[in-house]
Amino acid sequence: MDDAGVGRRSGGPGRRRVLKGLGLAAGGLLAGGAGVAGEQEWQRQDPPTPASAASVDSWQQPGRQVDVVWAVDTDRRLVALTFDDGPMQRWTPQALDALEAEKVPATFFVVGERLVRNARLVHGRLGRHEIGNHTWRHDDLSRLSHAHAYRSIHRTHAAIKAVTGREATLLRPPWGRLGGTTLQVAAEHGYDIALWSLLVQDRRLRGSPGELVDAVVDNARPGTILLAHDVGAPSRKVAVQQLPAMIRGLRGRGFEFVTVSELRQAAAPKRRPARPARAAPLAPPPPRARL
Ligand SMILES: [Zn+2]
Repeated sequence: MDDAGVGRRSGGPGRRRVLKGLGLAAGGLLAGGAGVAGEQEWQRQDPPTPASAASVDSWQQPGRQVDVVWAVDTDRRLVALTFDDGPMQRWTPQALDALEAEKVPATFFVVGERLVRNARLVHGRLGRHEIGNHTWRHDDLSRLSHAHAYRSIHRTHAAIKAVTGREATLLRPPWGRLGGTTLQVAAEHGYDIALWSLLVQDRRLRGSPGELVDAVVDNARPGTILLAHDVGAPSRKVAVQQLPAMIRGLRGRGFEFVTVSELRQAAAPKRRPARPARAAPLAPPPPRARL
C-alpha cells in the first residue's frame, strides 16, 4: 500500500527541505565519528509518511487516552500468552488444540483478512481466549496516513465483531511499529495498544526445542506478555509443538495464565505512577553524548 502521495501533500515541500537540511547538518557534525554510517543510511531513506496524529489530513477532536502496555507491574505470578498473525491452517488449530488440552487462555491478535477467510478455523474455539486487532493485512501502521490506518483497523474491528460477536479492545501494531495516526485511530476505536516483553525465539532456537522452552520459562516474570506466532515458517510449528512444555514449565515456576486484559486488571494499583504536577527537569547529557 502506497501512502506517499498523502504524505507529500500534508508534509509539504517546506517540511521536506527542513528535514533534509537537518540531516545534512547532523551528518556534518558526525563526520569522522562512529555514527557516520548510520546517519548516511538514514539520509537515503524517504522522509517519513505522515504519522502525526494531528497532521492536516487527520486532525480530529482529541479522543480518549490510549495506553501502551508491554508488560504489567504485578507481584502475582501471571503471564499472558499471545499469538500473532492468524488464523491460518498452519498453525492456528495446533495452537488451539494445545491450549485447550492444557485449559490455558491466550490472546490472539488476528489479521482481519485472514480471519474472514479462515473463520471456520476458530469457530466455536475462542471461548476462553481474547481476540485483538492486528490490522487488515499485517500493515505497517507507522507509515500509514490516518485514512489508511483507519480503514485497516476498522475493517479488522468489524471482522472480529462479525466472526466472534465480540468487540476487540486491544490493538497490536504489526512489528510493534506505530505512529501518531495509529494512536489517533486507536483512540477512535476505544483501543489500548498491547506490545510484548518476551518473545518466543522460534527462529534462533528452531533447532533446539529444549532451549527454546527454557528461554521462555527462565525469562518469564510476573506480568510478562509473551509473543508467539500461530502462522508462518516451520520454525513457528516447532514453537507451537513446544507449547505444552512451555506451559508446564511455567506452571512449575508457579505461573498462572491469563488474557492480556485480565493481566492488566491484575496490575498493582499502588504502583500505577502518579502524574507529576510538573515535569522533572531534564538531566544534562553525559559529556560523551554531546553533539
Ligand atoms: Zn504480526
